[in-house]
Amino acid sequence: MPEYVQPPDRSSLPLVFTAPRRGKPPTHWADLDPASRRTAVEQAGHRAYRARQLSAHYFEGLRSDPETWTDLPAGVRSELASAFLPPLLTSVRELTCDDGDTVKTLWRLHDGALVESVLMRYPDRVTMCVSSQAGCGMACPFCATGQGGLQRNMSTAEIVEQVVDGARKLAHGRLGDAQGEAPRVSNVVFMGMGEPLANYKSVVGALRQLTTPKPDGLGMSARGITVSTVGLVPRINQLAEEGLPVTLALSLHAPDDELRDELVPVNTRWNVDEVVDAAWEYARTTKRRVSIEYILIRDVNDQPQRAEQLAKVLKRRGSWGWVHVNLIPLNPTPGSRWTASRRRDEDEFVRRLQARGVPVTVRDTRGREIDGACGQLAAGSADVDASVTAPPVRARV
Ligand code: SAH
Repeated sequence: MPEYVQPPDRSSLPLVFTAPRRGKPPTHWADLDPASRRTAVEQAGHRAYRARQLSAHYFEGLRSDPETWTDLPAGVRSELASAFLPPLLTSVRELTCDDGDTVKTLWRLHDGALVESVLMRYPDRVTMCVSSQAGCGMACPFCATGQGGLQRNMSTAEIVEQVVDGARKLAHGRLGDAQGEAPRVSNVVFMGMGEPLANYKSVVGALRQLTTPKPDGLGMSARGITVSTVGLVPRINQLAEEGLPVTLALSLHAPDDELRDELVPVNTRWNVDEVVDAAWEYARTTKRRVSIEYILIRDVNDQPQRAEQLAKVLKRRGSWGWVHVNLIPLNPTPGSRWTASRRRDEDEFVRRLQARGVPVTVRDTRGREIDGACGQLAAGSADVDASVTAPPVRARV
């Protein structure tokens, strides 16, 4: 087994925690809580109960066209729509693959920033992968978004609108066959562009909009929602106290500081011990099993010793089912000198973890041929790339 670790592409990208200030997107219904919706509606000269009607149309009926709000007088409809439902996301392009079960959408925001979301239909669930920032400041060298730097934070409503759009696509039979009852978005993963915990306020706001019961919110179960992070420890601790038992995914990618400093540069702030402690504490507080994300990069982090070390790092905190490892075959970004692990190394990595009693799965690679798979979301270049014509990458089984 080669001991040599390829030096990663040393990018000179800085870590950026604070997003540049740009023109704020207009305030939207999905930015407001139920009480402030009523106040806003009254201030706009309407009766407070209109707020509940509007919420029912937006969150429950998924109806954005005011013409369909037939329980409201025509004049009120258009006033409410223009005051509270400003268009936030403009679809620039949609790519479909996996026999129509995966749809990636490239969105333009009000200021021209580009972000992407991916809707994936599985036999037993539908998962919406959303972006939380335009770009990302975490500078992970293997990640397409990380290489582009951070443009700005997204607002709560810009995040929520991605999920509402997915729900509308399903309601209109846009995924799979339209027979029987249209499926619902059952899962939301914050694994699109951006570091969700670096945009904490908007992300927690979005989590509340997603989990508030209908008609005031989308009424999703927190259990179906996963927030993925590079490991901003103070924010993980804060999230644990929000009373929102969402699943936490920690992008670990290496069990030792030397390698993690390279692969996940924020490790120089909060190291492996600190992030794993925070993840453990999150599981203890929320009773939700934490997911450890671990990309497998050929000859970089996929050696048997690293599997052993990873098992040790996790088992040290106890074996009460607090953790699960999710291995992700690397999706090389264009021009990357890294590639995915050999199949036999992947199998050995899995075997070593299992032998030590660590629950492990290998992530499927949905959306690869439309650059919609993990780490491939790079909206700036997607606009000019003819990625739709790229040959499909053979799917792993
Ligand atoms: N910033 C957050 C969420 C966005 S990325 C985070 O890092 O967790 C979602 C997942 O995709 C992370 O685990 C990330 O490490 C992984 N990822 C990024 N680039 C990838 C690539 N090229 N191949 C495979 N997975 C990648």
